Amino acid sequence: MRLVLLGAPGSGKGTQATCLKTELGVPHISTGDMLRAAVAAGTAMGLKAKAVMDAGQLVSDDILLGMLGERLTHDDAKAGFILDGYPRNLAQADALDHLLAKIDQPLDAVVKLDVPNEVIISRCEIRFKAEGRADDNPDTVRKRLAIYAEQTAPVADFYARRGKLQVVDGVGELSEVTARVKRALQDRSAAVHG
Ligand code: AMP
Repeated sequence: MRLVLLGAPGSGKGTQATCLKTELGVPHISTGDMLRAAVAAGTAMGLKAKAVMDAGQLVSDDILLGMLGERLTHDDAKAGFILDGYPRNLAQADALDHLLAKIDQPLDAVVKLDVPNEVIISRCEIRFKAEGRADDNPDTVRKRLAIYAEQTAPVADFYARRGKLQVVDGVGELSEVTARVKRALQDRSAAVHG
């Protein structure tokens, strides 16, 4: 299963990916987690990315594509993946299409978690208090939501035009949302395989 989870920051992509990965038998690939690991390790790329991330901006497409391209060559990604946080703009969606076409492994599904902004803002406030992520402070969250609306929302349209997008209500109990995502994946598989 090659799945992209779309949704605004704080929409629950990471949480849902964690719930789904064992069942689907594929790794959860979060570009945000990979970047945070690079920052924590103090690599040159991490140092470059940190200020951009703390400001709630997007790290450069080149860095992301290099990082993701390398990650997809790992053995565990041969069975597929759940991609969380990528693609975040149309250039990245295009780059992903090309990358996957080259290895003859197109996406199976794209699921967008739909969560209203006011719910996102309150979730990020809770996460800010619990985890202390600089980019979860309320001002930066507003900036990230604006970037999402401007740059990432068109990615959903990109997949909708290709008949790949499924939108799932991301508000509710964790297990309820997981069940909705699973249902969407089953519907998709039934539509593709009959
Ligand atoms: P996330 O954990 O997915 O919310 O990502 C945290 C931060 O990492 C984002 O606000 C961006 O600064 C950066 N980031 C993660 N994924 C991407 C991406 N695909 N393109 C650009 N920047 C990214």
